[in-house]
Amino acid sequence: MAEWDYRAFWEESIRQLRSELGEQDFSIWFNKLEYSGGTEKSVIIVVPSNFYRDEIIKRYQNSIENKIKELSGRELTVFFEVAPKKAETEPSEEENSGNISKEGAKKAVNAPDRKPAGNVKPALDNTIPPVKKPRHPHLREDYSFSKYVIGENNLFAANAALAIGKNPGVTSYNPFLIYGGVGLGKTHLMQAIGNYIYENSDIRIIYMSAENFTNDFIEALHEQKMTAFRNKYRHADVLLIDDIHFLEKKDGTQEELFYTFDELYHAKKQIVFTCDRPVSELRNLTERLKSRFEWGLKVDLQPPDFETRCAILKKKCEDKKVKVPDDVISLVANKISTNVRDLEGALNTLVAYSELVGKPVTLEIAQQQLKDVFFPKQLSMSLETIIRIVAEDFHLSPNDLKGKKRTSTIVFPRQLAMYIAREITEYSTTEIGQTFGGRDHTTVMYSCQKIEEQLRSNPALDSTIESLKRIIKEYSAKT
Ligand code: ADP
Ligand code: MG
Repeated sequence: MAEWDYRAFWEESIRQLRSELGEQDFSIWFNKLEYSGGTEKSVIIVVPSNFYRDEIIKRYQNSIENKIKELSGRELTVFFEVAPKKAETEPSEEENSGNISKEGAKKAVNAPDRKPAGNVKPALDNTIPPVKKPRHPHLREDYSFSKYVIGENNLFAANAALAIGKNPGVTSYNPFLIYGGVGLGKTHLMQAIGNYIYENSDIRIIYMSAENFTNDFIEALHEQKMTAFRNKYRHADVLLIDDIHFLEKKDGTQEELFYTFDELYHAKKQIVFTCDRPVSELRNLTERLKSRFEWGLKVDLQPPDFETRCAILKKKCEDKKVKVPDDVISLVANKISTNVRDLEGALNTLVAYSELVGKPVTLEIAQQQLKDVFFPKQLSMSLETIIRIVAEDFHLSPNDLKGKKRTSTIVFPRQLAMYIAREITEYSTTEIGQTFGGRDHTTVMYSCQKIEEQLRSNPALDSTIESLKRIIKEYSAKT
């Protein structure tokens, strides 16, 4: 196959991503990527290590592919290839753990059924030795029991989950409801049940977020494919529905899930739900569905204690094959106590940094790199000031600027406030978007662009902006 040269598209894509992501994220994740070649439908990029590859795939593959599509007009799959380590003499475990060769990439690209669901791309499919079952289309392989650390906080939940994995549908744990705050391991545990059953039997497992279940339902309704939809869900042997709080106010979906539930339950099929709070606290959910959710066993996942947090961090290091000294583990476990996802995020930042600079993680590096996590900026404070002062100047309320109304009397001051926020603070477009009523970072970028355009055609705007900036700065200096 001829080589395809996408270097120019790649370079322009990362140039644009650089301004969208900000320097910090960019320097951690993008500085060590190198364009290596292309095929008709793929771009191949070399990364320094397995860790990098996995993180880049998780974090940025979609954005990179979208950007390349935007620029080149082509749907290209980006493959990340780990740079060979020169010093190694033995074949490294990288060779069978996902380090995909160019040939491999081409094969995967040309395979007829090459687009698996979810964010895991064919690059990872190559990690599977040929004898093993193909991965389940909905489940993340790393969400397994063997990677789930058990502590006081989740002992009961994990044991119940394992019992269900061993005997789906036949224990009294049906339905099984796992609830608790974000990042505490609900999805991991639910998928561990799915993975365990998938490895040990051939029964039909469906894992779906409540959001995707809803979308699937709406699509089936629109396309008049309800029979196919019902066949899919009502013939499952194990149905795992994640984040049922999402179903609040979705009456039609609730009703459909109610009938699905009844059919599966009476056929003794295993059903598992997760929710971010006790079901009794869900307000916009029908009583009959609430009662079904609570029919079987409910378990509450609590935040892990210090020892468990350390054990989780050590386990993650082991899984990623990275070395992090105990004092650093204790520091991170000490400072981040309420959310395992944040714990893991902090560890990833450290490992990425240490790979980037080629030095081991030390206590000093950890303190320096995680200072924003340990001592969060007074984020909303000064952004709130900007919003308030700009709103006042236009005789509006801060809520007008944060709200959804799109009348021109509001849109312009809103864009102006975002522009000023970008100019005079260090906040990222994501953070600014968050404060402006949970908007996307692209909206902030668009707003800044709009103001820049207006500045070119209307130089008088400049003095309005300067005077607002001065008032904001004076006010901030006083407080
Ligand atoms: P939730 O669904 O409750 O928001 P997740 O299941 O997505 O949380 O977990 C967030 C992250 O924390 C995942 O990467 C998961 O692997 C990890 N995690 C949570 N609890 C544990 C645990 N007990 N052992 C290992 N990893 C965990
Ligand atoms: Mg979850």
